[in-house]
Amino acid sequence: MTPRSPGRRLVLLGATGSIGTQTLEVLQRHPDVARVHGLAVGGGRPELAAAQVLESRPERLAISDPARAETVERAVLAACAGAGVRAPRIEAGPAAVVDLAGALGAEDVVLNAITGSVGLLPTLAALSSGARLALANKESLVVGGELVTAAAAEGQILPVDSEHTAIAQALAGVRHDQIDHLEVTASGGPFRGRTREQLRAVTPEQALAHPTWSMGRVITTNSATLVNKALEVIEACYQFALPEERVRVVVHPQSIVHSMVTLVDGSTIAQASPPDMRHAIGWALAHPEKLPGLATPLDFSAAQTWTFEPVDEETFPAIALARAAHREGGGAMAVYNAVNEEAVDAFFDGSLSFLGITALIEEVLALPDRPRVGRADGVEGLLALETWARDAARTLLAARES
Ligand code: NDP
Ligand code: MG
Repeated sequence: MTPRSPGRRLVLLGATGSIGTQTLEVLQRHPDVARVHGLAVGGGRPELAAAQVLESRPERLAISDPARAETVERAVLAACAGAGVRAPRIEAGPAAVVDLAGALGAEDVVLNAITGSVGLLPTLAALSSGARLALANKESLVVGGELVTAAAAEGQILPVDSEHTAIAQALAGVRHDQIDHLEVTASGGPFRGRTREQLRAVTPEQALAHPTWSMGRVITTNSATLVNKALEVIEACYQFALPEERVRVVVHPQSIVHSMVTLVDGSTIAQASPPDMRHAIGWALAHPEKLPGLATPLDFSAAQTWTFEPVDEETFPAIALARAAHREGGGAMAVYNAVNEEAVDAFFDGSLSFLGITALIEEVLALPDRPRVGRADGVEGLLALETWARDAARTLLAARES
């Protein structure tokens, strides 16, 4: 892909979310990065979807949830008629999202900012189209790591996760055999420093109060349990082709150093910028170009302190659980992620405690009848395993309630 080619098109999946809206902000400031060809949304925010259509004027709009599609379509058509502009082609259903994800070509870019493993099929469709994949949907890489990396050409996936964009930047000019290990930084979330006892009565509201980042509901909860960091360790294993023991985690509460790479010669390279996802988004869209003014530079004329500390693995078992699941393979990480998605929903509807989230993941992973899948089972096998995991999680949740 030629950097900043004027004809470059963008498909933005998950446009109405936290990453999606920030992507459109980046494009507003840097319109020559790409022209919006299509937007995909879940269907939960019709007015925002309509406003985004008016602003970015896509040719296509896909709405994943058929039950909400009519409301979104009505809002979009009314907004377009009111402004006297041509409405996009509107399609509904999960297949429409996958179709849109695969609609572009090698000169173009797909930014996948859908939440959850439902982003896997769009990721695979984007990869097979040859387009650059700017990947915020870390779940697709975590769940389908082997399939996704096998489908991707060298350099086709550019991460939109601050830690991974940091590592990719630190690795510029570094050969793979020169890497000793990665240090993925973690803010520690809102409950850093607490004991398990103190976490027993945590409410969803408290879990949503992230100290440094403003994000969607699932990833914010995942940041509180450290499941997000666990997913990011596995994301890094696949993105940078390293075993999990060479991907370490260090708590850095200021979220300024977004991650680091330690080389075989003992030197550590870090990337630092204020916590603002627009930097990671713009980096992935424009790479290898650098967009002027993308981040507000750090101001070293003011005194500041950056601190680093180890993770409290005892209070937050999420990372160790993910490492074990990844080492085991056979789809165990898909089970981990699917159960977590169910557990987060249960936490929000009040049927599961905060500590219950990782406990449920552990419990399902330990079930003796847990099926295993391999690459030969393909994406269908993986999706069937996910369904099994969600059913198992719901059964255990129902048993707790009764
Ligand atoms: P949000 O929950 O804010 O947004 C999710 C978006 O996906 C919404 O636009 C939603 O639509 C849409 N959506 C949901 N289901 C589907 C579907 N089946 N097809 C198409 N669109 C769908 O999430 P975030 O923006 O916070 O996160 C998105 C992804 O990026 C996650 O994987 C997250 O882990 C990752 N990420 C996020 C960061 C952040 O700062 N937020 C940082 C790093 C990674 P609707 O509005 O209609 O519900
Ligand atoms: Mg991150």
